[in-house]
Amino acid sequence: ESSPENSLSDSGVKVIVRMRPLKKADEEEGETIVQKMSNNSLAINGQTFTFDSVADTGATQLDMFELVGAPLVENCLAGFNSSVFAYGQTGSGKTFTMWGPANALSSENLSGDQQGLTPRVFQRLFDRINEEQIKYTDKQLKYQCRCSFLEIYNEQITDLLDPSQRNLQIREDMQTGVYVENLREEYVFTMKDVTQLLIKGLSNRRTGSTSINAESSRSHSVFTCVVESRCKSMADGMSSLKTSRINLVDLAGSERQKLTGTAGERLKEAGNINRSLSQLGNLINILAEISQTGKQRHIPYRDSRLTFLLQESLGGNAKLAMMCAISPAQSCKSETFSTLRFAQRAK
Ligand code: ADP
Ligand code: MG
Repeated sequence: ESSPENSLSDSGVKVIVRMRPLKKADEEEGETIVQKMSNNSLAINGQTFTFDSVADTGATQLDMFELVGAPLVENCLAGFNSSVFAYGQTGSGKTFTMWGPANALSSENLSGDQQGLTPRVFQRLFDRINEEQIKYTDKQLKYQCRCSFLEIYNEQITDLLDPSQRNLQIREDMQTGVYVENLREEYVFTMKDVTQLLIKGLSNRRTGSTSINAESSRSHSVFTCVVESRCKSMADGMSSLKTSRINLVDLAGSERQKLTGTAGERLKEAGNINRSLSQLGNLINILAEISQTGKQRHIPYRDSRLTFLLQESLGGNAKLAMMCAISPAQSCKSETFSTLRFAQRAK
């Protein structure tokens, strides 16, 4: 059994706020205006906010793994669909937390001290799977993991493992449930397999002609691993199959997309981003309310591609963690307030 602070809360949604360090003084971010008050609270402008956990600038990538990643792996092995969403304004540290210093893609950056949540999750998953497979001698237990990596941009799905596959469609099937048609899935057995998929997928993310951040910050990146366990009893030869999913989601930047001075495609796109993030927020809000009050409510999964795609990992007894990334800088104040309010609503 894991300790309470190591497990996702039973309300289903766990909210963790991570504050990145200030950038260099010459980038003029101003003073630090956010202070961590305790393990689960922070203060900004004299106002206190409480979450499940607060990680300040001293928190390492390993700390984030212990807080968010380790419970995710245990939940997955216990049979729950489990997801982590990174939410926050562009530049707040979502990508750094989820994958690592991904703008300088290399296997070194995905393995050293700076290694992000995703590679650490797989390292732990593979270790735990080996333990489990060895543990049972009275039955044969065999795990298999297969991964996909996609991007949702302007409500269109692109396969990051095969970018020639654009505008993929979401389908529903009585047997398999919700799935993305023609999405590539690859089996992973080692860390090398995972690292290769990550590098391939991350380098296929949409980038603008002007800067890397400009367009990748307008898309959601969803890395999914389906973990299948087949268990065959030595006694009666009966076998059973269990599946659960891990979703690691780097959301589009939460900053209010500017609608002024934009037209045509850009305008439509800005509207889509604002809408899909607020719909995710609404949905999580409704899920939190249902788990608190026990009252049934309509759950609007179909409102956006992201929630439609992930519906089986959002409702029911799925486990969710919201990693809300903020900057402590004066210059980010209004976006930080908006992220904290979003995070608060998820509770
Ligand atoms: P986002 O994905 O939210 O736009 P990034 O993850 O790209 O933001 O982070 C912006 C910059 O800040 C990157 O250069 C990243 O390496 C750096 N950074 C973010 N969080 C941290 C952190 N906790 N410690 C050190 N550097 C960080
Ligand atoms: Mg990013």
